[in-house]
Amino acid sequence: MTNLAETTGLRDRISGEVVGPRDPEYDEARAVYNAMIDRGPALIARCRSVGDVRAALEAGRDAGSPIAVRGGGHSGPGFGTIDGGVVIDLSPMRTVEVDPDRRTARVQGGATLGALDAATHEHGLATPAGIIASTGVGGLTLGGGHGYLSRRYGLTIDNLLEAEVTLADGRSVRASETEHPDLFWALRGGGGNFGIVTSFTFRLHPVRNVICGPTAWPASATADVLSWYRDFMPAQDEDLFGFFATMTVPPVDTFPEPFHLHKACAVVWCYLGDPADAGDVFAGVRDMEPAFDGIGEAPYPGLQSAFDGLYPRGLQWYWRGDLFRTVPDGAVEAHARFAEELPTMHSAMHLYPIDGAVNKVGSGDTAWAYRDVTFSQVIVGVDPDPANVPALKRWAVDYWEATHPYSVGAAYANFMMDDEGQERVRAAYGTNYDRLAEVKATYDPDNVLRANQNILPAR
Ligand SMILES: Cc1cc2nc3c(=O)[nH]c(=O)nc-3n(C[C@H](O)[C@H](O)[C@H](O)COP(=O)(O)OP(=O)(O)OC[C@H]3O[C@@H](n4cnc5c(N)ncnc54)[C@H](O)[C@@H]3O)c2cc1C
Repeated sequence: MTNLAETTGLRDRISGEVVGPRDPEYDEARAVYNAMIDRGPALIARCRSVGDVRAALEAGRDAGSPIAVRGGGHSGPGFGTIDGGVVIDLSPMRTVEVDPDRRTARVQGGATLGALDAATHEHGLATPAGIIASTGVGGLTLGGGHGYLSRRYGLTIDNLLEAEVTLADGRSVRASETEHPDLFWALRGGGGNFGIVTSFTFRLHPVRNVICGPTAWPASATADVLSWYRDFMPAQDEDLFGFFATMTVPPVDTFPEPFHLHKACAVVWCYLGDPADAGDVFAGVRDMEPAFDGIGEAPYPGLQSAFDGLYPRGLQWYWRGDLFRTVPDGAVEAHARFAEELPTMHSAMHLYPIDGAVNKVGSGDTAWAYRDVTFSQVIVGVDPDPANVPALKRWAVDYWEATHPYSVGAAYANFMMDDEGQERVRAAYGTNYDRLAEVKATYDPDNVLRANQNILPAR
């Protein structure tokens, strides 16, 4: 392999580190969150500034190398690393600046959700994002981003005010409703196709403590609980969010010992309203007589990092997603069956509500095309042992095939692998695909940024 770390002279041109195959930290630097991904980049540029990003991008282009951009490194297909190419690793760019008066946060492109939540929480503020603190703000936002606050405050992209972007040709521009509005539209759901976002500015909302936690039932109750949940959840006020899960109860203190390692179904709740009303709000849930009720008050970042210990970096992951308007009886039956067949302790299915505020934005207003769906589903086969990968994949694909006919025929792009074909990518962007292809042709006509759910440039 050409020693790009030496031949590009990049070490002398950037303030961050450049790691090549001969460096002792190479294995650590090339690894991403999903340990199933094992790729050998020519170099990893740990960028500290917009200038570093530009120099690394130019070095990759000049060498004719494939380029990967890494935010938090959480992509299932491992888009944050690439064989024989240049990795632009944004993780040193992780500063979060909060303006409490304007209720905004300016977040560098390599920050994690944990850093964002910690900084905004100091001011009793938050913006919608995903449920694991080590996830990158970059990839999550560019794909759309949904989480506990989404029924009330929308997708992460619905709270994006502007972005600083280094384009494929090295220029840096600002994208907002008034500057490069076509680019701003595409960034909100179109993934990393259009440029390298070095900073995001988000709108924040008052969120401090929340009433939250899991309620769980034995796996044998999955059909009954899911049939209830599919109707209960969409009928609730937007202040209540609960995602449904099929799972194995982990052996952690949150759950009483007799439940440990039993297969279960659960709903993990987050209530943003007045704690005094929580008794009434959760009355309907308690009518379902959960075997375990862990609802209590917690600081919002506590909920946001509740699963971090269960899902550390370095596990094997294979996932499949789909979007649903409802969960018909046929799908309920499939969930009940596969809940009993979870292949490993870490494997699970999550059904996230994305109605409420998410549905108040038009399908063409941002690149996220599916504003009339109710649930975003992800089936995750997860285990520490690489020997279990075939079983994880088989279970996830079989499960996905059993529920897919009841879906809208497309997934949230951030819940896709890279083995599902270009038609699935096209479906993920739906009615917005052709317009996205036009924007791609404007900002990255040579498809330099293609380590993503790739939108092919029009023409
Ligand atoms: C454990 C786990 C939990 C998750 N939970 C949720 C959830 O609750 N809600 C949700 O919406 N999603 C969730 N996801 C999915 C998550 O949104 C995606 O995996 C996302 O791609 C992660 O972003 P990242 O920056 O960490 O990933 P990376 O692998 O670094 O990047 C993913 C993609 O985004 C691009 N990218 C990243 N940063 C930038 C940037 N600054 N500029 C340009 N391109 C960039 C990369 O090139 C790549 O194509 C979860 C994922 C995991 C593994």
